[in-house]
Amino acid sequence: MKRRRTFAIISHPDAGKSTMTEALALHARMISEAGAIHGKAGRKSTVSDWMEMEKARGISVSSTALQFNYSSEHSDSDVPNVINLVDTPGHADFSEDTYRVLTAVDAAVMLIDAAKGLEPQTLKLFQVCRHRGIPVITVINKWDRPGQTPLELIDEIAERIGLTPTPLYFPVGIAGDFRGLLDRRTGQYIRFTRTAGGAKVAPEEIMEADAAATREGDEWTTALEESELLTEMGQDHEQEMFLAGQTSPMIFASAMLNFGVRQLLETLVELAPPPQGRADVDGDVREVTDPFSAVVFKVQAGMDQSHRDRLAYMRIVSGEFERGMVVTHAQTGKPFATKYAQAVFGRDRSTVDLAYPGDVVGLVNAMALAPGDTLYIEPRVQYPPIPSFAPEHFSALRVNTADKYKQFRKAMDQLDSEGVVQVLRNDLRGDASPVLAAVGPMQFEVVTARMKSEFNVATTIEPLGYSLARRTDAESAVELGRQRGVEVFTRTDGALLALFSDKWRLQYVEKEHPNLTLEPLVATA
Ligand code: GDP
Repeated sequence: MKRRRTFAIISHPDAGKSTMTEALALHARMISEAGAIHGKAGRKSTVSDWMEMEKARGISVSSTALQFNYSSEHSDSDVPNVINLVDTPGHADFSEDTYRVLTAVDAAVMLIDAAKGLEPQTLKLFQVCRHRGIPVITVINKWDRPGQTPLELIDEIAERIGLTPTPLYFPVGIAGDFRGLLDRRTGQYIRFTRTAGGAKVAPEEIMEADAAATREGDEWTTALEESELLTEMGQDHEQEMFLAGQTSPMIFASAMLNFGVRQLLETLVELAPPPQGRADVDGDVREVTDPFSAVVFKVQAGMDQSHRDRLAYMRIVSGEFERGMVVTHAQTGKPFATKYAQAVFGRDRSTVDLAYPGDVVGLVNAMALAPGDTLYIEPRVQYPPIPSFAPEHFSALRVNTADKYKQFRKAMDQLDSEGVVQVLRNDLRGDASPVLAAVGPMQFEVVTARMKSEFNVATTIEPLGYSLARRTDAESAVELGRQRGVEVFTRTDGALLALFSDKWRLQYVEKEHPNLTLEPLVATA
């Protein structure tokens, strides 16, 4: 179990996450040539309309868990490490999904475009990592293209997010002239050679400092000087500080040329934490060596017409998982048979027979499972629920023809339990017109697209003039209901939410009625 590493890549769209994922798998020799995972070679796949939407927009809605073995050169064991890379949706509108994914990992790789520096989506996701105490490794990508200087990038990260980068590998050659990396801990130079189209693992030549100086001249001297400057400023790696979320080991790379990719794998194996026990709702820790338990972090349906079903992804927290095992669903107390356990890799699936803490397993036909649910083998355990995000977009959803009402209800219940959107109801609007609350408006499109493709129900979305929600209680709800520009709803999980048109309306109500309960909703467990 100590050999497992489970992580996610957080980045702004276009920073190179897909390219890096391919490069990592290539290095681990899972695929022989980059380009195989994302089906760029024109692989056939039958996809639902929903996937069509995803394709048309060039965004990734679905999450995937990629597992590969990696034999570290520094390992003294013949047994390879097992790396689980859990994919996160790229678009900001699906940050709630990303948040759930981040509850399933032990570390994150923050991938930054060398020219662009910190971007909004990276920042948002980084905040989630910070809240959850997930240690972060920073990769400056696209070093083969002109960009900022290493020290500018380091300063930007330190100043804007208060995370101190501690580069492990410092670039030799400015952005756009990527020659190799100075290994700051050994003082050696790792010189890279380009391969055709970056499709193969880039050959490396390891040199001692003298040879590097002769070879690269000023470029080497500059790297050495800047590295010494960092040492003087106390920016050398310290494991404790990294695990505490105060510093971030940093690597400069080019995912496209496969430069720095092996160094990232080595860093994950050497420094990222292995799976650890998890506290249950009572605060008692279930250790990884205890009997089987897992947390569902994502539920997905209608992904692929050739596998029409509902898939729940669980992350194993403790014990050994064996396919066919009958486990208990903590939320209902009912047994759940795991006959169809799968690994989902891109659009391909394969059967999983055995899995261990840190691994991600997809469970087919998981109709009863919802994100945050616990599965276990005796003794009983239940992990804390995954908190939901504060929604910022609100729309009423209506079924177009009354004869479809039954299917509409069924569809709504399913999409609700999958966590596609938050569903709000009140007596005034009635059951036929629930209000959907989302972090990003694209979530609404997913709802209407899936209503149509999976349930054959045509619906209309009508944006409402609310932009913020506060949690309230039954007592305050009465008074809030009388306020202009305020509406109170019950969310499916039972929470009472008051919606406000804007922050001024909220401020006014708070001022006029200081005793009302109005708590911000935040996704900070
Ligand atoms: P994602 O949206 O984060 O998954 O980004 P992609 O992996 O799709 O990459 C976005 C674009 O940047 C693509 O055109 C890639 O070919 C390009 N790209 C990714 N990594 C690198 C890199 O290291 N160097 C250069 N020059 N381009 C890169």
